[in-house]
Amino acid sequence: MDISVREMLDCVDADLNQDQSVLFRLFGFIRSRVPPDPAGVVASVSLRQLANDIGGQHININVIRVGFDALGTTALADALIELDYSVYRIRNIYRPRNLGVGRVLHWFVDSADADGMDDIGGTGEARDLWESFSVQNNGIDAFVARNISGTLLGLSPRPGDCDKGSKDDGCLAGGIDSNDEGLSRTFAHEIGHFLGLPHNHDALPDGPCPTGNDRFNLMAQTGCVPFIAGTSTRDTRTAVNLDSDQGSDMREHCAVREGC
Ligand SMILES: [Zn+2]
Repeated sequence: MDISVREMLDCVDADLNQDQSVLFRLFGFIRSRVPPDPAGVVASVSLRQLANDIGGQHININVIRVGFDALGTTALADALIELDYSVYRIRNIYRPRNLGVGRVLHWFVDSADADGMDDIGGTGEARDLWESFSVQNNGIDAFVARNISGTLLGLSPRPGDCDKGSKDDGCLAGGIDSNDEGLSRTFAHEIGHFLGLPHNHDALPDGPCPTGNDRFNLMAQTGCVPFIAGTSTRDTRTAVNLDSDQGSDMREHCAVREGC
């Protein structure tokens, strides 16, 4: 597909009269830089790949950071890298199933407005968060909280609603207190729920977990993801597979846009 950078900027509704950083406006990196890969390999992005993503079925995402103003300088810098890594990863996780990620916009709710929801204490508070705020565009509202207490990692209605202002029009895509790999998997997992995907096993704590390669599916709960050999760390980097049925189910959701 031949599509110019200018046409791509137009596809993501960028104001062509303003100076635009391609990495910010097209790729959605809040730092206007490709995030470092925690594994130490060099992360890279491709304009051609992005053109294919936007040219085919894709979703738009509003990344809404909640309460990040309460972070210190170093923690904030790390938090923004985590956000960008999640944006980077979800594109790579969804692309093999022919679902692109198009426009990514960044928004914030500061701690005063969050009224305690920057530190999510449970599922009720998670729902309150996406019921209290929404962005009036066709993107999926993906909230990332400054902290999530307890065992909850994220939460989403299944499926989410495309009618902004309705009850189920967003999701808690994760907490910045997770590490890069953990948050990025949760981010893609919760948006997977929003797009209609269930877990590929009965819910924990009863379970049981899936077996074999199914434990490396994106829709296995984190508690079912195998440990990295010789460690007590779940292999959240590898456990991001989606099968073709999951891909076609996601592509039927109302949030999915046709090619630009
Ligand atoms: Zn889940």
